[in-house]
Amino acid sequence: MRIRYRPVSLWPAAHAADARRPRSQQTKLGASDTVCARRAGYLLHGRTPTDTGEKRKAILGTWLHTGILDAAREEYGWLVERRVEDETVRGHIDAVQLDSTTAARLPKRLRPTLPAEETTVEDVKSKSTYQWDSVVRYGASEAELRQVYLYADLLGTEGFASVRGQRQLARLGPVPVARIRFRFMNRDNGDDHIQEIAYEADRARRARWWVQQVRAAASPEELPRTFQGPGISVICDHCPFRTACWGPLVAGRSPQSQLIHDDEERAKALAEYAEVSEQIKPLKDRQKLLRAKLDGSEPGVYGDNVLKWSGGNPTKVDDVGAMVSLYRRAGLAVPMAPDAAAMKATLEGAGIPVPTRLDHDRRTAVSINVTARKKP
Ligand code: SF4
Repeated sequence: MRIRYRPVSLWPAAHAADARRPRSQQTKLGASDTVCARRAGYLLHGRTPTDTGEKRKAILGTWLHTGILDAAREEYGWLVERRVEDETVRGHIDAVQLDSTTAARLPKRLRPTLPAEETTVEDVKSKSTYQWDSVVRYGASEAELRQVYLYADLLGTEGFASVRGQRQLARLGPVPVARIRFRFMNRDNGDDHIQEIAYEADRARRARWWVQQVRAAASPEELPRTFQGPGISVICDHCPFRTACWGPLVAGRSPQSQLIHDDEERAKALAEYAEVSEQIKPLKDRQKLLRAKLDGSEPGVYGDNVLKWSGGNPTKVDDVGAMVSLYRRAGLAVPMAPDAAAMKATLEGAGIPVPTRLDHDRRTAVSINVTARKKP
């Protein structure tokens, strides 16, 4: 008998290698762990992750990241993946481009091919096409800004960490940062988008204050959930502390339902729901009108926006006639199922109610209906 050979999947190996990376094992708060206050609390208190989640996209991002930074180091002499830390927080800066005055203080082999106009801390972020429009329109998120401000502040106050492989850099002492740069890479098509901002001391202070609040909490549960929970936030959907934070998922109940404890809170949430619905309605109507006005417009660039159309293609349906022919050619019996639509039409035509039964495996969608209470 011939044994069918199946190539192994590389994903188990990729997950194992990723779990061994220093960042995956660190229990001290890293700048890249400052996405959510509650999650940072779990890490700081050494809690064991409760969920594994899907990591393939993150692993692809890490690989892309490594490749790009290696190229920047080899071709431009940038300082990449350099460690910065103090007693409360640490991290690895993706890339530092020193200005010519600071670069001149380093041995020749560590100087960049092209020094920056002003010392710049760069962070590379890989994104999907799905996130791209929001990246180009709005730039880095609050959490991404916080992370990079922490790196820049550590570099400006402590300098490069004095660890193996960067002792010469550490001898520079504190390196004030003048500019922050985000380099967004689209991992689906290779597009890149750059956002540069001048370093603001006030923003750096806010980032440090955020870390202090997390460190001051006696338990992670004291800290606010920065995101709105599984099913609403993709960050929560993939969070390794999802169950610790929101409890086990209960079928038919949103995890957020536990945020309401009594009728008073229910009344408050209902009032806000009604108010938000009222505010959204004119916007939705306006959007419908604008969509209708744009109908038939050619795709293209108009002002600051790009118009594209998708969909509108014929949908595929089962070709029963072709299937019957195939069956007949193969000498198979064509199944003769009752024609429910024709039977229904006959019964309705004769004025006889169509019998129905409840299918407990298929449920209608649960929709909320909020109306104003009648005043007595
Ligand atoms: S589940 Fe969401 S809110 Fe909770 S810790 Fe994780 S990211 Fe934060």
